[in-house]
Amino acid sequence: MISSSHMDRTDSIMEKSAENTAPPNFIRHLINKDIQTNRFGGNIVTRFPPEPNGYLHIGHAKSICLNFGLANEYKGKCHLRFDDTNPGKESVEYVDSIKTDVRWLGFDWKEHLYFASNYFERLYACAVELIKKGLAYVDSLSVEEIRQYRGTLTQPGTESPYRNRSIQENIDLFDRMKNGEFDEGACVLRAKIDMASPNMVMRDPTLYRIRKMNHHRTGDQWCIYPMYDFAHCLSDSIEGITHSICTLEFENNRELYDWILNALEVYHPQQIEFARLNLSYTVLSKRKLIELVEGGYVNGWDDPRMPTISGLRRRGFSPESIRSFCERIGVARRDSMVSYALLEHSIREYLNKTAPRVMAVLRPLRVVIENYPQDRSEELDAVNNPEDASMGTRKIPFSRVIYIEQDDFMEDPPKKFFRLAPGREVRLRYAYFITCKDVIKDESGHIVELICTYDPETKGGDAPDGRKVKATLHWVSAYHSIDAEVRLYDHLFQSENPAEAGSFVDLLNPNSLNVLQDCKLEPGLVASTADFRCQFERLGYFCVDSKDSMSDRLVFNRIVTLKDTWEKIKKSD
Ligand code: ATP
Ligand code: MG
Repeated sequence: MISSSHMDRTDSIMEKSAENTAPPNFIRHLINKDIQTNRFGGNIVTRFPPEPNGYLHIGHAKSICLNFGLANEYKGKCHLRFDDTNPGKESVEYVDSIKTDVRWLGFDWKEHLYFASNYFERLYACAVELIKKGLAYVDSLSVEEIRQYRGTLTQPGTESPYRNRSIQENIDLFDRMKNGEFDEGACVLRAKIDMASPNMVMRDPTLYRIRKMNHHRTGDQWCIYPMYDFAHCLSDSIEGITHSICTLEFENNRELYDWILNALEVYHPQQIEFARLNLSYTVLSKRKLIELVEGGYVNGWDDPRMPTISGLRRRGFSPESIRSFCERIGVARRDSMVSYALLEHSIREYLNKTAPRVMAVLRPLRVVIENYPQDRSEELDAVNNPEDASMGTRKIPFSRVIYIEQDDFMEDPPKKFFRLAPGREVRLRYAYFITCKDVIKDESGHIVELICTYDPETKGGDAPDGRKVKATLHWVSAYHSIDAEVRLYDHLFQSENPAEAGSFVDLLNPNSLNVLQDCKLEPGLVASTADFRCQFERLGYFCVDSKDSMSDRLVFNRIVTLKDTWEKIKKSD
């Protein structure tokens, strides 16, 4: 057995080398060893076991990529199993969203779709068997008393006065629990292990409790439901899982996982724990995400600011970018915080290669080019992606009236401002040099229009006499442009680690959404479809909002800005 300190060290080295396609993480090492020793007949069967009590988030993506990824890599199988043992919090909506998200991420469970609720009959029989072996009992203490009797980390627990009921009495009581003869909370079934165990999980854990609730799959058939610890190991066993991979908070539960399977003398998978993903400036806990949705702090589970898979999808992330992010962060046995900038880096890298460049003006300022003929317009050549010549070129219209970005002009510019100013010449991307001649203001002194001239000799963006300009601006032709709403996003939280705070909603960033109306886009964008992603030159990467964008009302989301802060973070390491 390798010591855990040794493991930590190797893992941190491995994290650094996580750029490889298949980094040699500690789980792969364990699996390789099991294959060498033929432990599970050389088979690899993993599972992703979500509880359908919320939408999946990017932390789940880490687990999905790991479980399905290992199955693909070792030519094994990965099951999708719903851990639906808690009817009060679960729903079909959640089941459906989880299936959609796993598929969208690019994984296929084939025929291996399972529900813990399919095993309720078998789990019940296992519980009866434990009772018959003298290893489980019905406890009539209240939930509160059970908690008090459990003891603390430094003090052993106290045995329940009901602990030594006869096997026959336990069988009878458990049967009556199942038949609905008792109220919720009147009694539970507990494993008879050790109330003095240093591992609190082993102090006679609850296996079954009464819940008089309708279940989304089994209806009113059951009024007792198995606890996670009981259902999970047995579901793994029933399905022939070889490696049951879960997050570190279940480390103490492994002893119980092993105890139950040993007590029942059934097939026994290996539980392996890894560190869950924590991501800066957001929260990754379904309970907290539900609070955000139900409290109206965001616009639903798929709000583009949410760290949910559906939120990231709507924001414009591609499955490839999320998979590459998960590959990069690697798996370790030490909890850490991953920078949100790395997630952004992953999508930026993907979009830099694949997204066509276009021009859009988010805060338009009207520019009249007074020496350009009134009735004329022309088509200019623009490059679609300077990173990829095979993406070709397109035509963009130019005319006498154009829009530029408001903050690309200053009437009284400071020294380091090189963009347009009175009397100054700049380049319009793919078009001409223009010079600002006059500034028109309204009664309140706001700039409403610029009067400029253009130099016809500079078509395409270069002056034949070799004169230089210090700035290149993006623009769109006013007559040809199309209107759109553009939504800009910032971190959902102001704090790097909002989960740490008791009242995390107080740390929400009030500027996480900035909606801009009357933005002006290049005309070609009118036909954009739901999964269209592009770069608005100088402004970032954008996509069509899959929910709110209509043919007569375009809505774009900013996926990410162009500035890659991850490269900087990495260099300063
Ligand atoms: P949450 O803590 O967000 O409520 P959960 O663990 O209760 O999540 P489950 O539906 O039980 O949610 O999770 C399904 C699987 O995803 C489990 O194996 C769990 O360990 C894993 N998982 C959940 N959150 C993360 C995370 N942040 N990083 C990695 N894996 C995770
Ligand atoms: Mg859970």
